[in-house]
Amino acid sequence: MRISFHGAAETVTGSSHLVESGGLRVLIDCGMHQGGHEAEELNHSPWPYEPASLDYLILTHAHIDHSGLVPRLVKEGFRGPILTTPATIDLLGVMLADSAHIQEMESEWQSRKRQRAGLPPIEPLYTVADAERSLLQARPLAYGTPADLGHGVTVTLHDAGHILGSAIVELEAEGRRVVFSGDLGNRGTPIIRDPERLTAADVVVMESTYGDRLHPGKEDRVRELAEAISGTRAHGGNLIIPSFAVGRTQELLYDINLLLEARRISPGRFFIDSPLAISATEIFRRHSECFDDEARKLFADAEDPFHFPGVEYTRTADESKAINNLSGGVIILSASGMCDAGRILHHLKHNLWRPEATILFVGFQAQGTLGRRILDGEKHVRIMGEDIAVKAHVVSIEAFSAHADQAGLLDWIGAFGQNGRRPSRVFLVHGEPTSITTLAGLVHDRLGYPVTAPQPHEGFEI
Ligand SMILES: [Zn+2]
Repeated sequence: MRISFHGAAETVTGSSHLVESGGLRVLIDCGMHQGGHEAEELNHSPWPYEPASLDYLILTHAHIDHSGLVPRLVKEGFRGPILTTPATIDLLGVMLADSAHIQEMESEWQSRKRQRAGLPPIEPLYTVADAERSLLQARPLAYGTPADLGHGVTVTLHDAGHILGSAIVELEAEGRRVVFSGDLGNRGTPIIRDPERLTAADVVVMESTYGDRLHPGKEDRVRELAEAISGTRAHGGNLIIPSFAVGRTQELLYDINLLLEARRISPGRFFIDSPLAISATEIFRRHSECFDDEARKLFADAEDPFHFPGVEYTRTADESKAINNLSGGVIILSASGMCDAGRILHHLKHNLWRPEATILFVGFQAQGTLGRRILDGEKHVRIMGEDIAVKAHVVSIEAFSAHADQAGLLDWIGAFGQNGRRPSRVFLVHGEPTSITTLAGLVHDRLGYPVTAPQPHEGFEI
């Protein structure tokens, strides 16, 4: 069996791993590279594998850095089934269409610029029609149900506890078991269950986003959120929360609902200003099979934690623009979470320069993104061609992370070997170099596993 690592090798985006066994070629994830111009150029580069030669694509979850190149893969020849959980298929329906829409807008803008310079137009990476076509190849696979891929290869998905429908992928081939962690969730994340701990594997491919950091606990998360909301109101400014449309927005709503019920914050106006987040919230409501006990109970009691007094969902552009005229204590959740596209740019443009406003980061900000620059303390940033001064308060709550922290990762990998099948090799992916190096040292010293951090496109016989 051979594994090659074609993305998320020494970086956190563009996840894509190829497994070849007995003539079968299975791709795990097909993610988009994100975080600045240089990374995004990689999305246009030639495939390191022939799309038509792949038999299956298995998706760990719907985040674009794991699924964003699927429409291009299909457009350029992949005809096999796409296996993933039912919730992921529903989320992909809105996320890939949204991503395609961004691609279309960007290429239109670039083409107009090129036309003025006498250059030919450029094609979008893929279109909304390509995204819709690619999903016709999706086949649902429930957690814990083995699927026979032929050639003696089976695949089983387990709950990764990262976002709704996220999966750990377990592949059995040639008498060996390979486990891909996908993105592993943070224990105690609202709504969804904790990551499943598997106990047997021969090879483990694990993410390492927070391999060098520990998150504060759940109570800190809720307290810091309450403080950010009350603090902004005291300053008389707006609270802008760049939030991933899928997962983070629903978790925030869930926590805000609990804070309001416990009277730890006073009522007010909360805007969910992202069509994608609004669609994703509807999908959450449909997939109670992914909920943890607390969320199940809330819904069973006929309570809707995503709809409380004061919450307003703004789908149209006009409704969104109207928010810009409001000042004084409104709370705006908008995407994208790393501030590289979407309506959040308008809200940052209208609020970053106001000393009374607060920008609250609740998710990982990759290097090269606007979110990272603001978080790193830059005093001026460019937004949609305009120079904007950063005078607003900038705060960050790390405990909202959808990723396991160092302790969570070590706990998850430490569960292997409990029934005798200890991994003979661990590959670390999906992390920036310092994070991978720290985690590699700990996994090796504490558990004695040989650890490899693959280079981009590096392949291994296992
Ligand atoms: Zn993810």
